Amino acid sequence: MAFQFKSVLITGANRGLGLEFVKQLAKASPSPKYIFATCRSPEGDTVKNLRELAASHSNVTIIKLDASDKQSIENSAAAVKEKLGDEGLDLIINNAGIGAPGKLLQVTNEDMIRVYQTNVIGPLNVVQAYHSLITKAGKKKGFAAVINMSSWLGSCEQTSTGGFYPYGVSKGAMNRMTRALSYDLIGDNVIAVSMNPGWVKTDLGSQNATLTTEESIKKMLKVIRSLDKNKNGTFCDYNGQIVPW
Ligand code: NDP
Repeated sequence: MAFQFKSVLITGANRGLGLEFVKQLAKASPSPKYIFATCRSPEGDTVKNLRELAASHSNVTIIKLDASDKQSIENSAAAVKEKLGDEGLDLIINNAGIGAPGKLLQVTNEDMIRVYQTNVIGPLNVVQAYHSLITKAGKKKGFAAVINMSSWLGSCEQTSTGGFYPYGVSKGAMNRMTRALSYDLIGDNVIAVSMNPGWVKTDLGSQNATLTTEESIKKMLKVIRSLDKNKNGTFCDYNGQIVPW
């Protein structure tokens, strides 16, 4: 049976893959009742497209969430809880992420820590802050999900290149976290999955990438809608194929 989530939270929803998730979900039929599109500066210039989308789709709510700031994440959860009332949150997409220069002799400790803070601790804090909401949905409906947006650069098996220390190491850590979550949440019917979106044309992926955001998100939404408990604790790509850890 398809996973028909009625509520979804997306981090880093103002540009790149996050914005495209919101666009396609807002246009979907049926569209989720609640799309919580979070970003760190709702009033900023890079949020113009998202603000336009929210203005024309009443189910899209923009919420402030800075993935590198635990207090901001907790504040966002309080705002989402108020909107949801008695309902739980069906799906979390931990999408916000950053990179940093990654060559062995140039990488700095500051960059390692900054990227880890956003790409690993941020998603962990999101699951902690939204724990009561996501487990409420799991318990009520029998199924809810946390998606961690990872990368093939976080796979030991697939990485056939050096470098990428801050980014690749952070995504490897994120993958380990997905595994831990898959054990800690399944008792409440919540699965955790790492996803690789492919190499996508965004500010982070560059214009040399092979996929457009439209293609990647269309395929990832198909994979997300097909998720079931058998996929708990796995690393999937945008085609639904299992990626080796
Ligand atoms: P972009 O650089 O285009 O967008 C990144 C998004 O993350 C922006 O919305 C940005 O917001 C947000 N963000 C960054 N830091 C924070 C923060 N502290 N708090 C909240 N939001 C933040 O990247 P993509 O869309 O390409 O990447 C999305 C995810 O997909 C990332 O996790 C990335 O690692 C992953 N991915 C991407 C690939 C690709 O080829 N594009 C390949 C593999 C994985 P702001 O505008 O405020 O900076």
